[in-house]
Amino acid sequence: MATDRRQTDATHLHVVLIGPPGSGKGTQAVRLAQRYGVPHISTGDILRAAVKAGTPLGQAVSTTLASGGLVGDELMTDLVRDRLAKPDVGRGFLLDGFPRTVAQAQALDETLDAAAAPAEAPPLVVVLVSVADDAIVQRLSRRRVCASCGITQSVSEDAEVLADPCPYCGGSLVRREDDEPATIRRRLATYASFAEPIITFYRARRYFASVDGLRHPDEVTAALCAHIEHFLGLQRS
Ligand SMILES: [Zn+2]
Repeated sequence: MATDRRQTDATHLHVVLIGPPGSGKGTQAVRLAQRYGVPHISTGDILRAAVKAGTPLGQAVSTTLASGGLVGDELMTDLVRDRLAKPDVGRGFLLDGFPRTVAQAQALDETLDAAAAPAEAPPLVVVLVSVADDAIVQRLSRRRVCASCGITQSVSEDAEVLADPCPYCGGSLVRREDDEPATIRRRLATYASFAEPIITFYRARRYFASVDGLRHPDEVTAALCAHIEHFLGLQRS
């Protein structure tokens, strides 16, 4: 059957979005979830919700986070599995921040396989929003927050020397500590150390795609949608 975009709404969609901090992945996740009518499931939200709900899993998360540790594969997988069993996931999901390890990726495969007969299970579409480290450092290090009104904006490269005031309120623009180049590079290195095995795990799959995240956000969205709809077409053919 030929691809019919009007059928997009009726199709189950299982998407995993991968991308480094500063790649714009979060923005794209929100847009895609809205466009395809599936919940945007981010691990940050799941962890916060679990802690707030005070369930046994949530208490385990609180304990782990309070001790400064990372939530382990088993606990994280249990939390995501619970979330994927909620009724709003009936038409699919968009995962953001999970899986973070190969063990989590394997557990996700098992969960999806167990949830549907193989012939009916939609493939897991994995899309990487790819941006080179240097470009992310450049992008984030130009970010300034106004100390008076709190607005975040991007400044030109020479702003290091010429500290222009905030164009909205005249307050002084400051760079958050998180946006210092050295801090960004550290975060990117940490990210790469866990993301590379995941990308290797998924890259060989038919439903994997990498999208250049350096372009205008609208173009990135268009490229992501093109990939997703291409895969939806493959699935039906
Ligand atoms: Zn201001």
